[in-house]
Amino acid sequence: MTLQLPAALHQHLLAHALETPTLEVCGLLGGVGATATRLYRIANIAATPQVAFTMDPQAQLAAMLEMRGRGETLVGIYHSHPTTTAQPSATDLKEAAYPGVAFLIVSLAAPAAPVLAAFAFDGQHFTPMALRLTESARLQSEGCASLSLGSASTPTQ
Ligand SMILES: [Zn+2]
Repeated sequence: MTLQLPAALHQHLLAHALETPTLEVCGLLGGVGATATRLYRIANIAATPQVAFTMDPQAQLAAMLEMRGRGETLVGIYHSHPTTTAQPSATDLKEAAYPGVAFLIVSLAAPAAPVLAAFAFDGQHFTPMALRLTESARLQSEGCASLSLGSASTPTQ
């Protein structure tokens, strides 16, 4: 499966990570099918955010409820690695909790050139997953007023 990520969300995700480049950031991607349509920043409440992330459970719940209200499902979970590569760590694997949801990591090991990678999680293992950046025309939350999208912006399910 290929995760479709609108270019604007990709930019938001990188910007989020770069706001606090020495601390891990995290968040969720809501969407339809395999297409992400909205990014939800979640506060990282880990005791050592330099090397770990723990999503604020209340913010996570609020995001999930908002997704439901918008007709989205959870399609991705992202976090940043300030100094290491865009590969899941042993802790990432141990704490992964959402089989079937894409696991995204942005690496700032080379701050001038952040690397975003996606992985599929089957409940036990991560496997690399294709990530396709798309135009942002389908984004429902921004920049759509001047575009004529017809039915493309309406979720079909
Ligand atoms: Zn990690």
